[in-house]
Amino acid sequence: MSEFEILDPRMRGLVIGTAQLERLWTGARWAEGPAYFPAGRYLVFSDIPNDRMLRYDETSGAVSVFRAPSGNSNGNAVDLEGRLVSCEHRARRISRTEHDGGIVALATHFDGRRLNAPNDIVVKSDGSVWFSDPTYGIDSDYEGDAAPSELGRQCVYRLDPATGALGAVVTDRLQPNGLAFSPDETVLYVVDSGASHVADHPRAIVAYGVRPDGTVADPRTFALLPDGFYDGVRCDAQGNVWASAFRAVHCYAPDGTHLGTLPMPERVSNLCFGGLKRNRLFITAQTSLYAIYVNARGAARPTPRP
Ligand code: MG
Repeated sequence: MSEFEILDPRMRGLVIGTAQLERLWTGARWAEGPAYFPAGRYLVFSDIPNDRMLRYDETSGAVSVFRAPSGNSNGNAVDLEGRLVSCEHRARRISRTEHDGGIVALATHFDGRRLNAPNDIVVKSDGSVWFSDPTYGIDSDYEGDAAPSELGRQCVYRLDPATGALGAVVTDRLQPNGLAFSPDETVLYVVDSGASHVADHPRAIVAYGVRPDGTVADPRTFALLPDGFYDGVRCDAQGNVWASAFRAVHCYAPDGTHLGTLPMPERVSNLCFGGLKRNRLFITAQTSLYAIYVNARGAARPTPRP
């Protein structure tokens, strides 16, 4: 027995039968962007409409306001030096929180035009910062400031923080959203939640091959939903893909087989692995933060080759 619906026998090896889904905290309007900081044993996450970031302390269970206002922050990640990097809807930028607490802008424009509203973010082992830039944060005043898109398109960008160089790497998605690299970083998974704007648009996770030069190629549909939307996505160390999908978390094998599903009491936005063994799946869902221990570890960034 487990909280998961087992669709493929491989899923049995990924769950812990006695582990329960825990609601750790509630009180958000739309919780998003969980990022776990192992050195401090805390999790930072966003409450987008309430314009704040929260901090869950794993040692005490306490949740407190980490930053408000937050620029209507959405996705968060931890960079190679343990710093917080964040997507900010209202500021329409990527920011980094320095070790001294200062906040710096890493990316605000592409080709001289303002970004739409960065949504989700991941850091590769070479230090490059990859983020999606759909329009959700400028579509209304609820999660940012309503505004027209200056770019007129929604891309995934690759930022080199050392040089500031910004490149559009994924340009063929309607609304790119959650991002994750496979454990060896040869595959980039990109959620396309474009069905929010075009009803018959495929509700897909698309897998791209990642070239050594930081470009991507050969997109293929990795997973599809019949309805609802994928949002956040993460890989475990075995390359399985864990994806938020409306009122559930789905797990897929690297070959795309749907292995199992964790039904959720609320609509799920995003997820990340954390805890000292990276075997605790933290899930942000609508008003609440949830967690469940699984028999899988989140993918660690590979050590870069010299
Ligand atoms: Mg998202």
